[in-house]
Amino acid sequence: MADLLFGTGGTPRSAKTASTIDGIRRIAELRLGCMEIEFVQGVKMGGAGARLVAEIATKEGVKLSAHAPYFINLNAHEPEKITASQGRLFQTARIAAICGAESVVFHTAFYLGDLAEETYNQVKKYLGEVLSQLRRENNQVQLRSEVMGKQSEFGTLEELLALCTELEGLGICMDFAHWHARTEKFNSYPEFDSILRQIKQRLGRAALDNMHIHISGIAYGKKGETKHLNLKESDFQYIELLKALRDYDVKGLVICESPNLEEDALLLQTTYNTLLQTD
Ligand SMILES: [Zn+2]
Repeated sequence: MADLLFGTGGTPRSAKTASTIDGIRRIAELRLGCMEIEFVQGVKMGGAGARLVAEIATKEGVKLSAHAPYFINLNAHEPEKITASQGRLFQTARIAAICGAESVVFHTAFYLGDLAEETYNQVKKYLGEVLSQLRRENNQVQLRSEVMGKQSEFGTLEELLALCTELEGLGICMDFAHWHARTEKFNSYPEFDSILRQIKQRLGRAALDNMHIHISGIAYGKKGETKHLNLKESDFQYIELLKALRDYDVKGLVICESPNLEEDALLLQTTYNTLLQTD
């Protein structure tokens, strides 16, 4: 099996139905390697459904990850919203574990006008509680805080690298499109190289051996991300990124979140395989 697997954020558009099972089957037909189950509007899957998902994914040889609901804010000002956010993480991690998913990606928090440092401390406290509880349950899924594309969202590369060094069991979801949109930089080989070098320095080689990556085309303005685009309709230098991933021998999952999903996932996979041959 390849070291870097490519797949879609959610069921491919060309699947027979929008179900997770049909999504996994379509991923296998397309000869892609992975799929992220989108629980973004809530976890509606039960235990029996999740066991079936695990069975089909194993049979089809498709690796899975899961995306937690959008309604999470570990810097919410109301205690009940913090509890609800933590609850959504527990629920996603428990179902994802039954699905056989290796990672759960989540949007961590909004600043809500607070200082970045205050937000960081709140997130660290409440996320620490979630990670300890999941450890007590012996849940093997890795939670991954996503690098976010809007200025209003907690989740710069620096914040998440710091958080990962402080919280045992936390990983990063490196969304290269978000980071480009947020900074209006990081869209060239030397800049991608610098990101990977930084991850290696801060989190160790093991982090590059087990990366979780989001890629899409992206539109952005002064406040960062505005919407996702297909790669070829965007300015995103995906070939340069794939070269950097190749040169660092990065392993793990690459989830494509372009509107055309599998088309760009296949474009990324094909381009990457061509680059491997021209090593
Ligand atoms: Zn996301």
